[in-house]
Amino acid sequence: MRGTKMLILIVIQLICFSSCQPKVMTETTMAKPMEIVPVKPQAIVKNIIFLVGDGMGLGQLSAGTYANGNQSALEAFSVIGLHKPYAQNKLITDSAAAATAFACGKKTYNGAIAVDKDKRSIPTLLEEAEEKGLATGLVASSSIVHATPACYIAHNEYRKNYEEIAADFLDTEIDYFVGGGLKYFQRREKDDRDLTKELQARGYTISDYFQADFKSVVPDSKTNFGYFTADEEPIPVSMGRDYLVDAASKSFPFLKERSNSGFFIMIEGSQIDWGGHANDTDYIISEFLEFNEVIKEALAFARADGETLLVVTADHETGGFAIQKESTMDSIAGAFTSDYHTGTMIPVFAYGPGSELFSGIYENTDIYHKMREAFGWSASGSSGQ
Ligand SMILES: [Zn+2]
Repeated sequence: MRGTKMLILIVIQLICFSSCQPKVMTETTMAKPMEIVPVKPQAIVKNIIFLVGDGMGLGQLSAGTYANGNQSALEAFSVIGLHKPYAQNKLITDSAAAATAFACGKKTYNGAIAVDKDKRSIPTLLEEAEEKGLATGLVASSSIVHATPACYIAHNEYRKNYEEIAADFLDTEIDYFVGGGLKYFQRREKDDRDLTKELQARGYTISDYFQADFKSVVPDSKTNFGYFTADEEPIPVSMGRDYLVDAASKSFPFLKERSNSGFFIMIEGSQIDWGGHANDTDYIISEFLEFNEVIKEALAFARADGETLLVVTADHETGGFAIQKESTMDSIAGAFTSDYHTGTMIPVFAYGPGSELFSGIYENTDIYHKMREAFGWSASGSSGQ
């Protein structure tokens, strides 16, 4: 009898410990963690959504998470890795060499747009997706000819040759693009071509911020779609830019309807980097918060779709940004060691079928190879370096 009573007591205590203890911790010290949703086993990868927070190192995403009530959409990802962002000719990469690594699987020199160290064009993941009949997209909160989006669709020895990069948009039948840089298409200094007219002649629906607010635009998946959000570079979120989340959420169903074979899209939160260059903590946080909403939209689509691999990372860290001791969750005090990029490894978050490929530590070029593998494409001729 006595032994049985003891046993019951112990059991009751155990139940109380296991069920009550974590709850108390949760309520007092932590925000409710986001739920991790398991991926359907053996699901195929039909679509890849690639989100790049330019200049978003661990410091930036930590500050953004704290400023967001100690929560970010990245907490829903169960697969996390690290990539090494260095360039072929410099330990500290720029966005062009880094995006070439993502887009083409090759390390190259800083400033290169999808060309190798000898300035020879190398095929991009987006171009290959087009060739295979997938729908493709590029969205950025910079101009659409800026380094990161440019590396998926253009080939140029130098990142600032914006007019030449814009002309390369005519070489690949990209289905959906949204970003700034209208003047490089429409009012060109080196020739009289109006690339918006040339795109329209090829069946594109082209619009811009001057003709219609992006919010009121409904992209029709019967035609390719391009929208210019600024003449040159779009303004920061803090000054009223608000299209990135909308451009992301409109792109997924659009691209899904454009092709039965699947889609590839790269979406860049471009200005987290510019906050780092400006050594401006508030700029970094406000841009991260917008990017976090883009991640949420992509995650919601990927969950519902079941055949979408979602990968979120950055090209490099910017500013050597660190959170200082006087900081609180509501008031982040940041300090900077640089007004340029730094060389720390960069976190990679993956969700969906194929996501398991992205755990571990690897080269930035491996992101390209892992995406090819996820799509079930043959190993490329180009080596990892
Ligand atoms: Zn930068």
